[in-house]
Amino acid sequence: MSSIFSRLRFVLVETSHPGNIGAAARAIKTMGFDDLVLVRPRFADALAREEAIAFASGALDVLEKARVVDTLEQALEGIQYAAALSARLREYSPPVHTPRQFAESVAGQDGLRAALVLGSERYGLSNESVLQCQALVNIPANPDYSSLNLAQAVQLLAYECRMAEAGGAGGAGSEGAPAGAGRIGFLGDPASAGQIEGMYAHLEQALVQLGYLDPTNPKKLMPRLRRLFTRTSLETEEVNILRGIAGHIISACKK
Ligand code: SAH
Repeated sequence: MSSIFSRLRFVLVETSHPGNIGAAARAIKTMGFDDLVLVRPRFADALAREEAIAFASGALDVLEKARVVDTLEQALEGIQYAAALSARLREYSPPVHTPRQFAESVAGQDGLRAALVLGSERYGLSNESVLQCQALVNIPANPDYSSLNLAQAVQLLAYECRMAEAGGAGGAGSEGAPAGAGRIGFLGDPASAGQIEGMYAHLEQALVQLGYLDPTNPKKLMPRLRRLFTRTSLETEEVNILRGIAGHIISACKK
């Protein structure tokens, strides 16, 4: 599995303000990405300008490794799936996706090398540039005021891509997590299906010993308990604790 972090590139076309380039570098670094390419920025030395450095804050490494190229084709070298970001929907346009749809589709295609292409502050992307891409990503915004700041658009896409990766790499994979949910916060090792089944068997045995579960008339007790635990994304450590409790119940009942 190659994570989305190593296969998604951010391409900024004809950016005017070096500050936006710095802010974009910061945005992509906060979300775990690092591949930034500039196509014909207004200032050839944009990456070294004071505002770029100031707005990048601690993301200087991303600025240092960013490349400046002359054409969109050069920026898209090695890319298999490019999406143009645009606030404007066009008559002649590749298929339109939301940021979430784009993120989920790229996160779900292992090995796919993808790029997000953003236009200039003043003019956005030309139709020609949009048509060089295989998708158009539109951030659904206020229809009367739909144009986001360039670096904020980058931030939003980088965040969605990070969440889509987290969802695929554990959240949605572990039983019970809502599809696409990112696993965030302090996380332990997700329990495997086998560990969880072992825990249910142990718990059932303990409840029978305790006289709480009547094996001749079990009603819906175990399915109810399964439903309860399935909502919690059990971790290995927690399964071990529950088995420990079951073990102690069994030995206490034998005394
Ligand atoms: N004035 C320009 C907007 C420039 S904003 C125009 O009319 O197109 C700079 C870039 O941010 C855009 O080219 C686009 O790549 C991205 N962007 C801003 N708002 C967006 C939105 N609502 N959806 C998708 N991309 C957006």
